Formats: sequence, C-alpha cells, structure tokens
Amino acid sequence: MPVLSLDAISKNYGPIRALNGVSFDVPQGSVYGILGPNGSGKTTLLSIILDVLGADKGGYRWFGQPGSPELRKKIGALLETPNFYHYLSGRENLRITHSISGRGSEEEIDRVLGAVNLQDRKNSRFSTYSLGMKQRLAIAGSLLGSPKVMVLDEPTNGLDPVGIAEIRQLITELRQQGHTIIMASHLLDEVEKICTHVAILKKGELVAEGRVDEVMSDIDLVEASAEDPEKLMQALKEFPGAGACRMEGRLVYASFEKGMAPMESINAFCFSQGVTVTHLILKKKRLEDRFFELTGNTSHA
Ligand code: ATP
Repeated sequence: MPVLSLDAISKNYGPIRALNGVSFDVPQGSVYGILGPNGSGKTTLLSIILDVLGADKGGYRWFGQPGSPELRKKIGALLETPNFYHYLSGRENLRITHSISGRGSEEEIDRVLGAVNLQDRKNSRFSTYSLGMKQRLAIAGSLLGSPKVMVLDEPTNGLDPVGIAEIRQLITELRQQGHTIIMASHLLDEVEKICTHVAILKKGELVAEGRVDEVMSDIDLVEASAEDPEKLMQALKEFPGAGACRMEGRLVYASFEKGMAPMESINAFCFSQGVTVTHLILKKKRLEDRFFELTGNTSHA
C-alpha cells in the first residue's frame, strides 16, 4: 500500500490556479521528490497533504486512510525552518520543540540528535551552529515522535555545498533507517542524486511521475557543437523529430524520443543547412534534460 495517495487535487488562490488535478502515489521507503520551477505548486501541495491548507477538489490518503490527528503523528514535517533560540543549545531547543508540539518524549531528544549527527554538538549554543547544522537540528525536531514519513520543503535551500552534502547524506541515512521522505525541490541534480521517485509539476499540472530512472529514460539527448552554435541550434530545431533544443556555453543540446536520434542523418541535415558539425554525440540523459523537455525551463528554473 502506498504511504500517500493523491487523488486529483486542485487548488486555486482566487484567479491563480496553483494545482490542477494532481494525482500520484508515494511508495513506502521511497525518497519522493516533488520537482518544479518556482510557482509550480510544490509548497501548496505539501501544505495540502499536511492539512495546513484545504484542497478545492480531490483528496489524499495517508496509509490508505483519510487524514486524522492520529495519522498525522506518523508524519514529521518541515515546511519552514523553525525559529530556534540562538542563546540556547540544540538540545535545549529540542526540549522546547517537544514541549510545544507534544511530539516524542524527553528521552527521544538525544536519539534524534544522534540521528542527525549532532550528538557531539548538542550542548553548544544554536548561534554557534553552521547553517547545515541548523537545518539538521530542524530535521531532528521533525523526527521527534518517530514519524514513518518525513515531509521536507526545499531542505537544502540557502545552504553552502558542505551543508547541502550533509543534508543529502542525512536524507539517505533516514531512508536506510526505514523512513519514507517526501521533499520539494527545484534543484534537478539534487532530486537526481537523492530521490528514488519524482513528480514534476509545471504551473500546477503534473507533467511526469515515476521512478527517477524511468522518468529519465524517456528521451535521448544529442550534444553537438559547431563554429556557429546559434546556427547549429537553428538547424537542429528544424530537424524532423527534434524536441526541445538549448544552448549551454558553446554546446547545443537537442532532445529526441528514445531511439529516435539518427546521428548520421542529423549530421547530414545540419551540413545541408550550411552548418559543419564539429562534435556530435548521444549523451546519457540527465533529469535536467527531461525536466527541460517537459517544462521548457532550464535548471534552477
Ligand atoms: P517556490 O519554488 O517559489 O516556493 P512553489 O512551486 O512552491 O514555488 P507555490 O508556492 O505552491 O509554488 O505557488 C503556486 C502558485 O500559487 C504560484 O503562482 C503562487 O504565486 C501562488 N500562491 C501561493 N500561495 C499563494 C497565496 N497565499 N495567495 C495567492 N497566491 C498564492
């Protein structure tokens, strides 16, 4: 049984359509990425499944049942970074989180601090923590009560590369410990690196969903270069069967349906358009390319 099932969820803010009939299932034990450019509806979706916002239409089930306060306890959530007290230690802050939220127990505090690798620094003041440590403390707070599922909104936002690596490692460890993680992100490489599944949203519409490797496997990507990249891109755009085309530095990328990128014909076609191709290869597809294909947005959209 899926951990979470969404059934045709729609939400409008006045005239703004934030979500339109979004349905998908989150399998148990997955790290499920909700990916989309800014404003595509990720936070709205997370707010609905956490019962912070009501949907206009459609519904969702956690563990096969409609939401209830009991079920809600099985879900740890981090929608925005909590306001911790700067002059208190990480441990003291979590004691406050525990007493305000009623989740978990005093005894559990050390365990969750250990789970996010803050055991050694639990008695240091929050103000002395790095950004990554602050975010790990926030995740520790949402681990109180041993939730089976963690819902995280952009968990690496604002972190430096070291902090990002720490959070990615932590998410992988949480998954190994048996948690299901649902996380929103607009960072393609992040989703590609740590998620097992992904739902791609564009302006509130679900445009692709499934295992990351399957979502990625739907296109072939051709990488090409020529003396005049603009002209090359124009030629590739006109090649029958070519999908989205984009330029990155002096390299031009064109996506094709799987198995539909005839390299020799592409080369000959470009030549016939007055473009001598100096480099032409079939690339291993990355999620970024699929995302681009589906949403028309480049990475960090
Ligand atoms: P981001 O990556 O920027 O956080 P997002 O994918 O999480 O974006 P949402 O925040 O869910 O997207 O927003 C979806 C759409 O709904 C956007 O057009 C946004 O402007 C709009 N929206 C969100 N919250 C409100 C609100 N309270 N009132 C009006 N419009 C809103």
